Amino acid sequence: MSSYFPDSEMKTESPVSGVSRRDFLKFCTIMTATMGLPAGMVEKVMAAVENPKRPPVIWLHFQECTGCTESLLRATHPTVEHLVLDIISLDYSETLCAAAGHQVEEALHASVEANKGNFILVVEGSIPTADNGIYCKIGGKTAMEILKDIGPKAAACVAIGSCASWGGVQSAYPNPTGATGVSELLKEVPVINLPGCPASPYNILSTILYYLTLKKLPALDGEGRPVFAYGRLIHENCERRPHFDNGRFAEEFGDEGHRQGYCLYKLGCKGPETHANCPSILFGDVGSNAWPVGTGHPCFGCAEKGVGFHKPIHEQAAVYTVAPPATYPDFDEPKGKGIGVGAALVVGAAAGAAVAGGLKFSKVLKESDNSEEKKN
Ligand code: SF4
Repeated sequence: MSSYFPDSEMKTESPVSGVSRRDFLKFCTIMTATMGLPAGMVEKVMAAVENPKRPPVIWLHFQECTGCTESLLRATHPTVEHLVLDIISLDYSETLCAAAGHQVEEALHASVEANKGNFILVVEGSIPTADNGIYCKIGGKTAMEILKDIGPKAAACVAIGSCASWGGVQSAYPNPTGATGVSELLKEVPVINLPGCPASPYNILSTILYYLTLKKLPALDGEGRPVFAYGRLIHENCERRPHFDNGRFAEEFGDEGHRQGYCLYKLGCKGPETHANCPSILFGDVGSNAWPVGTGHPCFGCAEKGVGFHKPIHEQAAVYTVAPPATYPDFDEPKGKGIGVGAALVVGAAAGAAVAGGLKFSKVLKESDNSEEKKN
């Protein structure tokens, strides 16, 4: 999937600038499915996008690299950011504001007061808490003070990216600035975490669309993430999963297994313990393998608290769910030389469990083979 908008030519009128009506319909259908809503909701999603009444959004930047905004705005296809910026009223964003200094500070506070209790607060970046938060100051105030002042006046807060969700790279050991996520400090309003480094622009858009369509927040998991986007482990939907189940692993970067597209578990892939929809919706809008594992790099767990930026890349992931596929392809070998389907199922499960336990797959396969031979 290279883009949600394969055909960007303007053919008929569309509510979004630069998007054809046909692509707009297609997009709303895909977004409805992404949000886990029934097909009958497509019209409501379209109506929400077309509604001229746009929710006010205040977008604050704290301790971060601006990568989430950049990945949203610099997408190879221009439509996602058009949609985001067309369906919201972005009243304040330090990255996008043309004004600066006192002028923009006044605009921020005027918008907060005018929309008290109604605006959506978007936070990008972690909040340093060490030494009274002096490591991040804007307009003479610390990030902690700004969040404490503006946060409780919002209707809800969306913490975009791993930094705003739980500290991100700044919170890596020894975390000298005491970097933490928004939900640790803002308790007065609901906080939705959209972790990722950067967060997927599609998940940002889906979350906003969900709110606009259903007038409520999406169901969240125990880490405050929308279930529709973070409800499944990467490992469950990864295209390399059949290799994992069959014990085919890249042992080092550039080896034959790596070139063959084998599973990256032994190279430190954190897919088995990271919840995110990267393999389903892909990432970066740049081709059919547009996500880290698709390009041959192990997932480093950026969307999972305590994994990305905390577990070394070479450390193997804990495997919580080693569920083998329901069926395996038949083997052509004559009976007695190869292994039967029943044994293959056992081997598949054992392989995953064995790798999880640090055993060599070849040892498991050999033992299983021996037991088959004994039976025959
Ligand atoms: Fe995919 Fe990583 Fe799981 Fe292997 S360990 S199947 S590369 S998510």
